[in-house]
Amino acid sequence: MKPLTYLDNAASTPMRKEVLEVMYDCMQHVYGNPSSLHEQGRKAKVVVEQARRSIARLMGVTPSEVFFTSGGTEAINTILSRCVADLSRRHFITSRLEHPAVLKCLELLTQEASIDIHYVDTDVKGHINLTHLDGLLSNHKDAVVVLMHANNEIGNLLPATAVSELCRGHDALFFSDTVQTIGKYEVLLPKLGIDFAAASAHKFHGPKGTGFMVVRSEHLFKAMLRGGGQERNMRAGTENVYGIAGMAKALEMAHEQMDADYRSIAGLKQTCINLLKENISGIQFNGDAEGNSLHTILNISLPGGVDPEMLLPALDIEGICVSTGSACSSGSIKRSAVLKALKAEPGRPSVRVSFSCFNTAEEINYFVEKITAICQSS
Ligand code: PLP
Repeated sequence: MKPLTYLDNAASTPMRKEVLEVMYDCMQHVYGNPSSLHEQGRKAKVVVEQARRSIARLMGVTPSEVFFTSGGTEAINTILSRCVADLSRRHFITSRLEHPAVLKCLELLTQEASIDIHYVDTDVKGHINLTHLDGLLSNHKDAVVVLMHANNEIGNLLPATAVSELCRGHDALFFSDTVQTIGKYEVLLPKLGIDFAAASAHKFHGPKGTGFMVVRSEHLFKAMLRGGGQERNMRAGTENVYGIAGMAKALEMAHEQMDADYRSIAGLKQTCINLLKENISGIQFNGDAEGNSLHTILNISLPGGVDPEMLLPALDIEGICVSTGSACSSGSIKRSAVLKALKAEPGRPSVRVSFSCFNTAEEINYFVEKITAICQSS
């Protein structure tokens, strides 16, 4: 059996041992409903509220601004639809490089609530054109700017402070999809000027199906799910107590180990870039791999000749897990919308590798060896 080389951490990450322990302990000993008034109920409530306090502290906001969700997609859908329903926003400025959870939700809102979407220009590397953003903001008052903090396919980082300054100058709200950056960087939302943020625990070694959104208190909207008083009347339904406890532990650990993890992961990414350049002639990288880019993501553009349909299965046979786009679109060989928007050459197959603190230099060597062999045999 080949050892597993897991390089798909932007899709999902393995859980940390300590997170599993917290969740297991919680499952065994904290089985009450947080809304119950007896001892077991109070115990569960304490777990949920301690997690909220811990997460709020790491985001630089108050606990009352943190709302637990089932993950990034729910947070994104809620924020966008409540901005329309409760905050009466009609103009949404976004980019064509956003996650489908943003783009599909906005498309639906154009039909349901007659909002207008305005797409900001991006350059060849996929960075936002701030001058164009400024122009769009001048023409559309009271807009919501929806731009992701780091792109999940190419890793580009957004200059969030520059964007929020433009937003402030035009009375616009700023929603950043922070799913790929929370747990990787210190994302202090007030410092960055972000009004709404979305997070997903399984991207930072926490459990799947658990996430949170941050809604700054001055833009608080109304209930997202009705039928109970949970989440201060915002999201009815019994809380995912184990998931929430695991997520808080995962985020605390991500912050404790952030500097060391950054150094080791950035080192792996650079090693991967160097080895690929040495071994595969004509290799390119989509996005801004060696510039303003997330250390955990590398999007490789292979020379023409490699069969895109064979690439993933060929790597899979070698025990290597990577992605050709976002996880939601893998499984079908549909060309990535992000690469299309970047006008990447259609004849060049692309592979997204994404690293975590659990990867090693040996794994990078192994991946480069196998992908080089695939290129040579094509
Ligand atoms: N936004 C980004 C940037 C993502 O990478 C993802 C997951 O791939 C999501 C949103 C959706 O998050 P979740 O899987 O928690 O629904």
